[in-house]
Amino acid sequence: MTSPLMPTYPVPSVRFVRGAGAELWDDQGNRHLDFLSGLAVTSLGHAHPAVADALAQQAQTLLHVSNLFGTEPGDDVARALDTLLRHGNADASGYQTFFCNSGAEANEAAIKLARKFGGRGRHTVVSAFASFHGRTLTTLHATGQPQKWEAFQPLPDGFRHVPWADLGELESALDATVAAVLLEPVQGEGGVNPATVDYFQGVEALCAERGILFMVDEVQTGLGRTGEWFGFQHFGVQPDVVTMAKALGNGVPIGACVAKAEVAAAFEPGDHATTYGGQPLATAAARAVLAEMQRIDAPRLATSAGAQLRAGLEPLDAVGAIRGLGLLLGVELIDRDAKAVASRLLADGLVVNAVTPTALRLAPPLNVTDAEIDEAVAMISAALDAVGSSEAAEA
Ligand SMILES: *Cc1c(COP(=O)(O)O)cnc(C)c1O
Repeated sequence: MTSPLMPTYPVPSVRFVRGAGAELWDDQGNRHLDFLSGLAVTSLGHAHPAVADALAQQAQTLLHVSNLFGTEPGDDVARALDTLLRHGNADASGYQTFFCNSGAEANEAAIKLARKFGGRGRHTVVSAFASFHGRTLTTLHATGQPQKWEAFQPLPDGFRHVPWADLGELESALDATVAAVLLEPVQGEGGVNPATVDYFQGVEALCAERGILFMVDEVQTGLGRTGEWFGFQHFGVQPDVVTMAKALGNGVPIGACVAKAEVAAAFEPGDHATTYGGQPLATAAARAVLAEMQRIDAPRLATSAGAQLRAGLEPLDAVGAIRGLGLLLGVELIDRDAKAVASRLLADGLVVNAVTPTALRLAPPLNVTDAEIDEAVAMISAALDAVGSSEAAEA
């Protein structure tokens, strides 16, 4: 036994001990720029003082009381989410929140809600190939990546998968057993593939016509990252159910399944629960995150920083298409092995990841500075030159 941890992750080459804003320091004292944000989690940067203060204060006040009782931070966060989800749509009906501890749990709640809302016999959830919705058995089956299912059969029934961004294929999948459609506004793990206005509006119309729930997984895209509060807001739709997690706690584990009140009404006391979900430590962090994001207008920052990052990368010879919205970008490399480039960048002091064999994913904090973006672009340019195209041929 060489590690005290299960071998579910590759053996790490770096151990980080401290962070501040977009910067991280490892146990050798090396500084890194974090352009991954723990996978779109630390959207306000590391060790944000407003979040740290909220945590410290709440830890000295009240950590936990169980969901048999209410707490103030939870109600505040749920109200703020309702406002942000209806942002720019005066006609939208109100949303109610179920708090949990992760993205997978938020999607589990959404899937249970869809089944309860649909009623017996109407339980199928349709999702897209190349999607990612979590690693629990149920959300693994919602995840449209059959190679990830293989070792864990049998998976729970009631899932169907369709090609991404193909409205005709989706329509043919909507038989009488379908309770909900579950889609990401930008497929994150699938390679950073944004939806389009036509696709999302088409899905919304089909769902409305047939009484099917339109559920949007905003776990990676939510809370400003794409340049809107939520990714779906780029496409002029108003989903029935929205799930989120990652950025909501800026690193403190919290997830939320949020549904229009008329949909949420399908749940009765006893239908769903969690011991920790919504506890005041996590919701106090989320309350501070949302207040700070509103104060700095995080979506606007993501839009301008995303444009600057794109403009810096586009002229590089080894950069092909750049996909994504705001500060969730997939950078397609020409003739380069993305894994080799990402490891080279890590050694040079820039944290990114290879989202596909040929594309890097960039997701810096939304308050990243102009100077940090320039520094990252220079490092990426140097790494693309250093790795060269020969390694792509070998890989
Ligand atoms: C990360 C992610 C999840 C799973 O979240 P966990 O907190 O890891 O369970 C679900 N959906 C999307 C779109 C994600 O990016």
